[in-house]
Amino acid sequence: MSKTILLVSGDGIGPEIMRETIKVMDVIEQQFDLDFEYDEALVGGVAIDAAGSPLPEESLAKAKAADAVLFAAIGGPKWDTNPPDLRPEKGLLGLRKELELFGNLRPAILYPQLAEASSLKSDIVAGLDILIVRELTGGIYFGQPRGIRTNEAGEREGFNTYVYSESEIVRIGRMAFEAARSRGGRVCSVDKANVLEVTMLWREVMTELAKEYPDVELSHMLVDNAAMQLVLCPKQFDVMVTGNMFGDILSDTAAMLTGSIGMLPSASLDKNGKGMYEPCHGSAPDIAGQNKANPLAMMLSASMMLRYTFKEVAAAEAIEAAIGKVLDKGYRTGDIFREGNTLVSCEQMGDAVVAALTE
Ligand code: NAD
Repeated sequence: MSKTILLVSGDGIGPEIMRETIKVMDVIEQQFDLDFEYDEALVGGVAIDAAGSPLPEESLAKAKAADAVLFAAIGGPKWDTNPPDLRPEKGLLGLRKELELFGNLRPAILYPQLAEASSLKSDIVAGLDILIVRELTGGIYFGQPRGIRTNEAGEREGFNTYVYSESEIVRIGRMAFEAARSRGGRVCSVDKANVLEVTMLWREVMTELAKEYPDVELSHMLVDNAAMQLVLCPKQFDVMVTGNMFGDILSDTAAMLTGSIGMLPSASLDKNGKGMYEPCHGSAPDIAGQNKANPLAMMLSASMMLRYTFKEVAAAEAIEAAIGKVLDKGYRTGDIFREGNTLVSCEQMGDAVVAALTE
């Protein structure tokens, strides 16, 4: 039965990187005998211009009906001064909320060919392949009560509530254990169980859950140590799972180890494995329409979609391997270009990946 993928090209470089990604997906569909049907929807600035809303009802309905959403990027200076409800990012946040995407998967992969782009020594990061699984809809960012009040001494104080229910921990834990099964088979759960009760429960629940996944090795690490280990010896990690706030910080740290934003994909998943897949970068208005964008993060987002929503691991690996071959040949878009490389356009990069898939 065919699967429906909703394409949200959005603004800026979005349509350019989406076009190249679909070229690659067309080859993959044939090679692996898959059957995808594509639909398109307007979200972000283009939707504001065309329909007066960053997330029109029709786009939301299409996203709900699709098996997966492939999302390029939104935003740009044209809409920067709009009132809050008419800003492009409202469309993205609205989709995440309406689709109940509670699990955020952020890989930090550093192709050995790009090791020089990292701020760390290349032998420490070359070949890095970490997946950070971050809880996205709970924890201290959403806990109630919260606010700023005046205390009995007449002084203002700010307060937030850090809360996780057992079921919230179990569902993000499952996502991490399942992901580890299609990768290196190891999960490191990050908490602050020496101080915070909520993460004492987190550790207890993860330990209990691990019994259902005897093929996956679980370890625990305190968040301060995890931050240190990420910059000291990052290749020790396979999958890291953590709450919303710790994940926010650690995933950005891990991403920056790779040094190239044009290479980083991400996924946000619901409880049934339906997901929205998007590059970590924005709409890059400074290079939009110039055929200069790096489409690889978008292609890697499509590869995550094949792996996590459609369970087509071999097809996902084929895209990743093709990208590796293209980098081996020295082809680079401007953002990852170094002396001695061959500078290519967005379209030429797409052609090169297609060629690598078929050679
Ligand atoms: P950005 O990621 O768009 O760009 C930062 C820098 O990285 C720019 O110099 C850009 O040219 C470069 N860059 C980014 N992606 C690239 C790619 N694929 N290939 C080559 N170079 C690339 O971040 P920004 O400039 O802070 O934001 C621009 C717009 O994007 C804003 O409107 C912002 O709100 C929006 N934004 C959207 C998302 C999203 O759609 N998920 C995420 C972040 C920012």
